[in-house]
Order: sequence, then C-alpha cells, then structure tokens
Amino acid sequence: MVVPGLFIDGVWTSGSSGGTDDVVNPADRSVVAQVDIADAADVHAAITAARRAFDAGEWANTPARDRAAVLTRVADLLARDKETIARTETLDTGKTLAESALDVDDVIAVFRYYAAIADSDPGRLVDTGQASVVSRIVYEPVGVCALITPWNYPLLQISWKVAPALAAGNTVVIKPSEVTPLTTIRLVELLVEAGVPAGVVNLVLGAGPVGAALVEHPDVDLVSFTGGVATGKWILRAAADTVKRVTVELGGKNPNVVFADSDFDTVVDYALTAVFLHSGQVCSAGARLLVEAPLHDTLVAEVAARAERIVVGNGLDPASETGPLVSAAHRDKVEAYVAAGLAEGAKLVAGGRRPDDPSLANGFFYRPTVFDGCRADMRIVREETFGPLLTVETFSSEAEALALANDTEYGLAGAVWTLDAARAERFARGLRAGTVWINDYHPYVPQAEWGGVKQSGNGRELGPSGLAEYREAKHVWQNTAPSPLRWFKG
Ligand code: NAD
Repeated sequence: MVVPGLFIDGVWTSGSSGGTDDVVNPADRSVVAQVDIADAADVHAAITAARRAFDAGEWANTPARDRAAVLTRVADLLARDKETIARTETLDTGKTLAESALDVDDVIAVFRYYAAIADSDPGRLVDTGQASVVSRIVYEPVGVCALITPWNYPLLQISWKVAPALAAGNTVVIKPSEVTPLTTIRLVELLVEAGVPAGVVNLVLGAGPVGAALVEHPDVDLVSFTGGVATGKWILRAAADTVKRVTVELGGKNPNVVFADSDFDTVVDYALTAVFLHSGQVCSAGARLLVEAPLHDTLVAEVAARAERIVVGNGLDPASETGPLVSAAHRDKVEAYVAAGLAEGAKLVAGGRRPDDPSLANGFFYRPTVFDGCRADMRIVREETFGPLLTVETFSSEAEALALANDTEYGLAGAVWTLDAARAERFARGLRAGTVWINDYHPYVPQAEWGGVKQSGNGRELGPSGLAEYREAKHVWQNTAPSPLRWFKG
C-alpha cells in the first residue's frame, strides 16, 4: 500500500530525516506499508503551520455552519470509501472486517453529530442586574491542538478528537500510533478533499518522542491524548511546564457485574463480547466478571465452554470471530499476565495458549482465556492486561459486589446485570466510572459523553462536553454608560 507521508501546511511531504517505518499486519507479519517518520524539525514545522493558520483566523472565523458543512462532507466521503477504509483498518490492527466496518459507521456518526451541534451554542447573555451593562459569554476555539491516539481504535479515536476540534474552529496537529497509522493518514486525505484549508490540519508520524515534542512545544495550546496510563501521567507532568489544557483518556479495568436473577443466556453471551471483542484490546473491556455466588458454577462453566469455541483467525476471513493481538511485544505482555495468574493461584478454565492452527503461526494470535477463582489482590485483576483475559470473582451481597467493582485504580466503564430495577439504579449510582451500562455492554453513541474517573483519565469526549473541551469561554463586559467611578477621591 502506498501512503502519502506527513501532511504539513497543506502539503504531503516525506520527513526531513528521510526515516521510514514498516507497518506490519499482525495477522501474518507481512509489511502492509512503509510510512515516513517525522523528526523534531517536522514537528516544529507542523506546529508552526497550525499556529499560523490559527492566528490568521480563517478557520476560526469561518461561520460554524460552514465548518459543519465540511464535517458533513467528511462523513459523506467516509461513507463513500467505507469498504476500503475498513479493509485498511483490518490490515493494520488485525480486527475483523465486521468490526472495522462498524468502526467506520461510528466515525461517520461522530462527524455528523459534531456537524449538527457545531453552531448549537453561540454563547449566552449574563444578567448582571445593571441596566447600563451588556455582559455575555462567547465561545472561542482554544488554539493549536495536538491530538495523540493509540493503536486499538485508530480511526475512531482520532475522529472523537478531530471532529469536535474542527467544529469549534481550532487548528490541529495529529499524531496517530506508530503501530497503526494508516486509516488516520487516509482520514487526513479525506479532510483535505472535504475542503479543510491549508495549515488547519497537520499530520506527523512516528513513535513516542514525536508525541512528546508536541506536548512540550510552547505553541501548542491543548493536548488531547488517548492511550496508556503511564504515558498519560508523563503528558500531564510535561504539559504543566507550558500550562496547556490537557484531556487524557486512559486505561480501564472494568467490572461486569452479574446478579443471579439475570437471564442466563444473555449474560453468558455478553460476558464474552464484553471482554473478547477485538481480543480484549479495548479500553472498556469487561475484563473482571463479578458473579453472584448461586450463579457462579453454571455461569463460569458456560462462559469457559463458549470461550473455547470462539473462532480466532485472520480478520479478513469472514469465519473469524476475533483477530490477533497487535504485535509480538503485546502478545508477550499478555502471556506474561497469564503466567502471573497461574503463579498467583488463579484457576485456568479456558484458553491460556496460542491457537493450535498452524496457518496462524505467523500472526500474533492468542486464545480467549478465562481465569476462575480470582482475588482482588492478583495482578491479573488489578492491572490492565489489554488482552483476551477474563478474571472471575464471586460475591454474596450487593454491598460486596459494589466494593469489589470499585476496588480498582481505574474508573472508565462497567456494567451491572439484574432484573431488579431499583438495585440496578443503586448500583449504577454507586459505581465510580465514567460510563455504566445496565443490562448491556459496550454501546457508544456520539451524543453521550465518554471518559474516565480516577486514573482512567480526565475530561470527556463525545457529547456536548466533547465539544466544550475544544472551546474557551470568554466573558465580554460592556459598560454602555461609562462615567468616572471616583474610587480614588484626589
Ligand atoms: P500508549 O500510551 O503507548 O501510546 C498512545 C499514543 O501516545 C501513541 O501515539 C504513542 O506514540 C504516543 N506516545 C507515547 N509516548 C509518548 C509521550 N511521551 N508523549 C506523547 N505521546 C506519546 O498507548 P497504546 O499502547 O497505544 O494504547 C493502549 C492504551 O490506550 C490502553 O491503556 C488503553 O486502555 C488506552 N485506551 C484508552 C481509551 C479511552 O477512551 N479511555 C481508548 C482506547 C485506548
């Protein structure tokens, strides 16, 4: 696949260092594409272009409805190219084509949503109680935004940032994960085709240091980061030096809590999709299954049996139900967690191995894995494994279930399953998480805020708050009848 390179000030360019990186298909280790890598000079040039474009004011002063029209065109172009984009996402991330296609649908919905609300809130008048004063709040774009994304949902994550950032009138420098940059590059092409002016959107490629250079640069006003907790903490510290606005969407260790009154087939089914979708490489994966004691034995037996039947394979093969892990290093990490679980005394009841199929030997595949008999102090329960690894704990009361569910440094998402509506409501209110699903798992809509509490991050994406992240509220006060105040009498 031929990809155009970096995009700086309206021009596709190879990096000034001439460095390139291979993008590898995790299903078979084939090289899908070679991409150019940015160095410090390229990052500086991209930020300078975004700064100049912002300060010139062309995009910020474009009427919001015209910016919205550009976003709508992006959505139309994504719909036009959906098949090829989904295929690229599968080649890059390994996820199944069906999942990639759903991602593109979600991305289209995100662009349409921010197009729809771009001009919805022009500001407000403030009642000061003084007849001679006109006081109002106006919303303005923040400025130059650095948008940094991870490898698991490349197109989706960048869309959650770039659509509201552009709707609000900012200029941006995008840095996708070095592991999965391809659909982000394609999105930038579509943004250009849709009519985004030169300098408004810039793209740099490369690993952590490229992102770090964005975070440290004084001309960047805002950093929106999605990724791991360790990186997020580094970014929060580094951004403090220039007092940037920072949004961080980090990891999760999400509880999926099942009370015994739930419908058995439904909770088994959702226990699997909660954690094994995209082979567990989902920040909101329901990786901790908490089961009420009377249901434990039958539920775990059925979850384990069905986990063993999940078809792992190349995402391009329609028979595959889930794909590989993203890299050899990531699979090593997941295998180390499985070893840790065994060493800590958890009981392996499914998976715990690579697939037997020799045709998958070149890929980074790993079988869906279930550990029963887990305790809250185990590493596999506390740490984000980001792989197809489910831990099962048991509880005997609502209070114990809530205490176990909240016994984590993270607070991204979680679910509760019960037919008792009052208990569901109590539980949803008690769970410290940014999102709670009742009798469901994993739905997202662009209209509803997404984000974490505790160490899952701060700030919100999606919904009206997702737009507010990219706006500053300015107070304009006008005295229509100025006269001397005579505070100082002399
Ligand atoms: P990562 O933190 O390793 O990398 C994320 C991005 O940050 C990449 O583009 C990377 O190149 C860049 N980066 C690395 N070091 C940097 C630095 N010092 N300064 C600036 N940028 C830097 O994360 P990952 O492994 O790509 O992604 C997996 C993580 O993302 C998981 O923890 C997952 O839970 C999280 N995630 C969270 C959400 C959410 O919505 N909360 C969504 C998806 C993924």
